[in-house]
Amino acid sequence: MKTFYVTTAIDYVNARPHLGTAYEKIGADCLARYKRLAGFDTYFLMGTDEHSTNVEKEAHRLGKTPEVYCKEMAREFEEVWAKLNISYDQFIRTDDPQHKTAVQNLFRTVYNNGYIYQGTYEGYYCVSCEEFKLEKDLVDGLCPRHKEKATWLEEKNYFFALSKFSGRLKKHIEENREFIQPETRRNEILGVIERGLEDVSVSRKGVQWGVPLPSEIAEGHVVYVWFDALINYISALGYSGADDARFRKYWPADCHVIGKDITRFHCLIWPAMLMAADVPVARSVFGHGFVYSRGTKMSKTIGNIMDPIELAEFLGSADSLRYLLLREIAFDRDGDFTIEQTVTRYNAELANELGNLFSRTLSMLQRYRDGSVPTWTREAAIDYDEIAGGVVDEYVNAMDQLSFDQAIVAWWKAVQSANRYIEQKKPWELSRAGDARALDDVLRALLEVLRLSSVLSIPFTPVKAEAMRRQLRLEPDISKVTLEEARSPGDDAWKGVDSPDPLFPKIETPAK
Ligand SMILES: [Zn+2]
Repeated sequence: MKTFYVTTAIDYVNARPHLGTAYEKIGADCLARYKRLAGFDTYFLMGTDEHSTNVEKEAHRLGKTPEVYCKEMAREFEEVWAKLNISYDQFIRTDDPQHKTAVQNLFRTVYNNGYIYQGTYEGYYCVSCEEFKLEKDLVDGLCPRHKEKATWLEEKNYFFALSKFSGRLKKHIEENREFIQPETRRNEILGVIERGLEDVSVSRKGVQWGVPLPSEIAEGHVVYVWFDALINYISALGYSGADDARFRKYWPADCHVIGKDITRFHCLIWPAMLMAADVPVARSVFGHGFVYSRGTKMSKTIGNIMDPIELAEFLGSADSLRYLLLREIAFDRDGDFTIEQTVTRYNAELANELGNLFSRTLSMLQRYRDGSVPTWTREAAIDYDEIAGGVVDEYVNAMDQLSFDQAIVAWWKAVQSANRYIEQKKPWELSRAGDARALDDVLRALLEVLRLSSVLSIPFTPVKAEAMRRQLRLEPDISKVTLEEARSPGDDAWKGVDSPDPLFPKIETPAK
């Protein structure tokens, strides 16, 4: 069986997840669920990045040790992800002993291979970014992202010889077009290489909270938090002896899903670290866009948080939020997310187009056929093909490119044309005229569109997909459903259908 390994960025735990963080996890979850549906042995990793100075500060402010604070916060993150139906296979914490050992092992290997050397760092550091800054990165001495004064550092520490990898990185990026996605990010990274790569500091002196450097290399230093964090993608699998079989099975990763602002870490430093340690490089990095609310990026440091759990509750379910986020904002671009727009789309698409198609069809099957399923005929097949022909191929093509919005557009072609089909065929008139044969064909063609929707919806709205399948009396365990089912209408899996139970009740538009 082909494997697929997908990861997200791991999050600092000094604040609860906001809508922007949720957007990334929902996108990655949609990809993971799609790959499972498509028959891949999928491994989906998420986690928390705990060795940050900000995390340590926040712990002390609350009068807790960083260990205790991180453990509590990791649990909180996991609760949020569970509520949003995120189906990760593993949740890694960078304070896990197995991770810390892997960090030291990789550091040691890179050092022994001659790519880590001692030097003196003199320059700026933004604690909020956890990033070393050049003078030209700052605006009036402030970090442009955090509007905070950058700290001047002068410390003896260890450097990673990133500059030695310019040629190999450039070649790798040019020869592997899928390595950096989307295209804009790829051009940006090639530009950075063109301007010249500088070595990066990979240790901090005098910092307590972090992974200590291997003791034979130095005492009193910890590994720089980014160098530490990136290693989670391999330590989770069991890199450096913890679980060789699993590491070999899933590495290299098929897709690192990350925010576009950390593309440089993932497309330059991370592959160079792996090259320096003789480990294969990941197959692709996808830098998604940001969620804005009326033009302002949603993030903790700037404020303007929309709580994803509150939003999901407002929209009636986590599935509604998942659908609307992925439908509203193309994954490779920035997008605006406002309550008014969202409610309008919810009512038009989920409540009306999909929800009504579902309840109308099931009601008609109850009314005209006592819930039994008419036979699949040549006429039903022709009608179904007119409604849904080509939809699965379009959907697959879009999903493979992480164009989640376009995959929904493809699925929706079937939903909308099924609604038009009802208006054209007027099943109630066929019933009145006693044309049982024609009515059977219409009902069966519609029912197959519902089944198609119950499969294509799994990556987007997994809980609702299950609810649809229960009402259709099809296999309700979505982990057992495959994309093949969407490609093969007309089989004999039907056992009748239930009376409809509303999937997406209408929402009243909030007062402005
Ligand atoms: Zn900053």
